[in-house]
Amino acid sequence: MSDRIPTYEDVMQASNALIGVAHRTPVLTSHTINARLDAQVFFKCENFQRMGAFKFRGGYNALAGLTEEQRKAGVVAFSSGNHAQAVALAARMFGVAATIVMPHDAPAAKKEATLGYGARVVSYDRLTEDREEVARGLVEKHGLSLIPPFDHPDVIAGQGTAAKELFEEVGELDALFVPLGGGGLLSGSLLSAHALSCVCDVYGVEPRAGSDGQQSFRGGSVVRIAPPKSIADGALTQALGRLTFPIIRKYARDILTVSDEQLIQAMKFFAERMKIVVEPTGCLGAAAVFNEVVPVKGKRVGVLLSGGNVDLKAYAGYLQSA
Ligand SMILES: *Cc1c(COP(=O)(O)O)cnc(C)c1O
Repeated sequence: MSDRIPTYEDVMQASNALIGVAHRTPVLTSHTINARLDAQVFFKCENFQRMGAFKFRGGYNALAGLTEEQRKAGVVAFSSGNHAQAVALAARMFGVAATIVMPHDAPAAKKEATLGYGARVVSYDRLTEDREEVARGLVEKHGLSLIPPFDHPDVIAGQGTAAKELFEEVGELDALFVPLGGGGLLSGSLLSAHALSCVCDVYGVEPRAGSDGQQSFRGGSVVRIAPPKSIADGALTQALGRLTFPIIRKYARDILTVSDEQLIQAMKFFAERMKIVVEPTGCLGAAAVFNEVVPVKGKRVGVLLSGGNVDLKAYAGYLQSA
């Protein structure tokens, strides 16, 4: 079942499942940016989504797709970031027990947020244990359903609903820029773009230090890299997924990269000019547009701002840096 490559039909189904559950997030514009780029830019603000990132969409849709029996047994996810909180919150809404596997040195704030949504946290030692093995152990021992962060048809379909809403609201676009980690958000967005705005060039944008997606896309097969270092902590995946890669390969225009410095400049712009908090990973698409990594002059451009969860101390540091 989880080997099935999802289609736009699945995105529409996810969209129905999320009615009255997920926020239909606002689309913001900036005269400053439009004037600077001589373009029309539409920001889809998933930093205003429940739990602060688009991941709630996929997490909830994955829970919605489980059988009664699977829900009774509970779910497990491995993540120290937004996916953990998404699964924890969605599970609580369904009355399902959630276990989140996190490194024992995960930031206290992230652990607390996950516990706050009622999940059980199982710690592992990053240096001596493999998180996937820890999670698989729980799957085998307690019959839990594993909810992966991106490589699952219901997760991909759920993530695709953000771009669907954007096209419904602003109509056809010439280009759409999407943050890229494992590719759940990008592949879901591609399904929506292909169905709703077939002339739209869709770009995935990843941190320059972890360009596995670009290498994979351009080379034609999945490239796995060593754990990358970037402030974009939601996009530090080492490889695209078995389900996300074929969709990306088929429909994406290209995969672009941006530097941490460009992410910081984008974060500052959002804070100062648009009064919104966007986390480093959430700025990937925007940074590619602001720096005109591909030309956008005269175009109608969509940008997915994927999340707003950033440690306040780290955020203050980014804003103060030169
Ligand atoms: C997870 C995440 C991403 C990357 O999403 P993928 O589906 O793994 O490509 C981008 N931005 C934020 C804020 C995230 O939490």
